[in-house]
Amino acid sequence: MQAEPGLRVKIGLEVHCQLTALKTKLFCSCSSDYRSSEPNENICPVCFGLPGTLPVLNAKAVEYATMIGLALNCTVANRSVFYRKNYFYPDLPKGFQISQYDKAGGVAIASAGSVEVGGKTVRITRIQLEEDPGKLTYEGTIDKSTHSLVDYNRAGIALVEIVTEPDIEDAREAKAFLEKLRSIIESLGVSNGELDGAMRCDANISLAGGARVEVKNISSFKEVEKALNYEILRQRTFSGNATSETRHWDERRSITIALRSKEEEQDYRYFPEPDLGPIVLEPGAIASVRSSMPEVVEARASRFAKEFGLSKQLAKELAADKRLSAFFEECVKLDRGYQEMAGLIVGEFSGGHLPEASSLPPEEFVALVKMVEAKTVTRAQAKEALREAIRTEVPVHDIIQSRRLSAVVDERAIAAVIERVVAARPEAIAEARRDKKAFSYLVGQVLKEEPKAQPALVAKLLSQRLRK
Ligand SMILES: [Zn+2]
Repeated sequence: MQAEPGLRVKIGLEVHCQLTALKTKLFCSCSSDYRSSEPNENICPVCFGLPGTLPVLNAKAVEYATMIGLALNCTVANRSVFYRKNYFYPDLPKGFQISQYDKAGGVAIASAGSVEVGGKTVRITRIQLEEDPGKLTYEGTIDKSTHSLVDYNRAGIALVEIVTEPDIEDAREAKAFLEKLRSIIESLGVSNGELDGAMRCDANISLAGGARVEVKNISSFKEVEKALNYEILRQRTFSGNATSETRHWDERRSITIALRSKEEEQDYRYFPEPDLGPIVLEPGAIASVRSSMPEVVEARASRFAKEFGLSKQLAKELAADKRLSAFFEECVKLDRGYQEMAGLIVGEFSGGHLPEASSLPPEEFVALVKMVEAKTVTRAQAKEALREAIRTEVPVHDIIQSRRLSAVVDERAIAAVIERVVAARPEAIAEARRDKKAFSYLVGQVLKEEPKAQPALVAKLLSQRLRK
């Protein structure tokens, strides 16, 4: 949605990303696997901050947050500290959340980064490490509910909060940014954004310097675009006179509803967490995290383009998926048909369709690509065989044999088909001589009659026929 002139939209995002690769919570040894547990099963006195307990920092969480900071081009702090953010809400068993703070002497674990998306730079203000609150479930909708249920299994799960500058200008841009962010974080192997609630987002939206409205509880990226479009439209209806407040995104009704006037920072009474020491990262420690990091999507895409001569778009699509990239890298060890391989992999296996290695070993896929390159099977036949292999888990080789998939290379047979097609519509010859589109149409008609013919061979024979 484009803003009207003079009503420039400014959106800043706060993304909460669970470090789902961790086995335990941020400050205790409770299991972090709350999705497959009964409510309130993974809890302990540390989760509840009972007297006499002390939090112990999960070192792996610090490593993962450092990786995210580096991947988002941030400066990682050599020394950062935890703060208590105090507020009373039923999802918070301790009455405070252990978080980080970037004011009054506080330092977040990483800051001042950037993400390039669609030719634009979105600045990252800071990244902080904090604990997730529990999960509230409402009976009915949040504003009408007479009671709510709380599950503390999620309380204490390690989160990384990623805060952007208000550099985003519409809902579409926000969605593109979030998708990019997710693929970067997933490529690090620290979080699986596909898990329900693993990546959640709050958005700050203002129109042309009007009041800042915060929309909370957007549970998935799919909802972000809807929520932002709704909120921009709502604020525009107020001609920029929106009041500063916190609103809730109601997924079921697709509207935002007012929750409360926006808390001011002083409402949280931040103070340094007395039970935890600072996080100290020597420059050598940061360098060693950097050197052990998996390659992030962007670097992988440019390597694919450079090393294998793939087009930028194809390299990008391939690199965005970790499994497809790994499969491609296995295949390129076996043969040099890089472009054909990458095209088939992206075209046929995107969206989680790559079969397990047992039903499609790289050797078999490469053998198929070689057949396409040698023109003994057409690309359409290769795709057909792959789709059937995915569906039936029968080896590709067997499918090619049993269905006798092979290209027709007999020029005389194809020429005969051309004659049949042309005889049915003699005026098509003159049209095809004049017009490229009519020519392609005619090639298509021949392929319809003889799907096993190679399109390039049909085109060659047809242009010979037209010269007669
Ligand atoms: Zn615990």
